[in-house]
Amino acid sequence: MIVKESDYICPRCNSHNTSQARPAFIAASGIIFIGIGAWTFSIPVLGYGFVIAGGIMLLASPFLRNVHLCNICKKIWKIKPVKKIPAEKIIDFMERSQKYKSNKEND
Ligand SMILES: [Zn+2]
Repeated sequence: MIVKESDYICPRCNSHNTSQARPAFIAASGIIFIGIGAWTFSIPVLGYGFVIAGGIMLLASPFLRNVHLCNICKKIWKIKPVKKIPAEKIIDFMERSQKYKSNKEND
């Protein structure tokens, strides 16, 4: 499958019936297409067609990260990946700064 089920809600029609692109799958398909193209290169049109299609898929795949599409209204949109800071890191940092403070007070 080129797409998988997405957890995101469509910004246009608020539908939950949305999909997410799978760049790794698209890139792999592109490589397979180029392979078929190379194999059938002696056959006019077909060989070139596969190589070109495979090349486009391979080149486009990195740009398809975080691309979502609505199955209802066919809207395609991109989501900016949110970097999540693990809670443990924040707690660890707070503990460290508190220890530093108490050490200073003791001096
Ligand atoms: Zn929609």
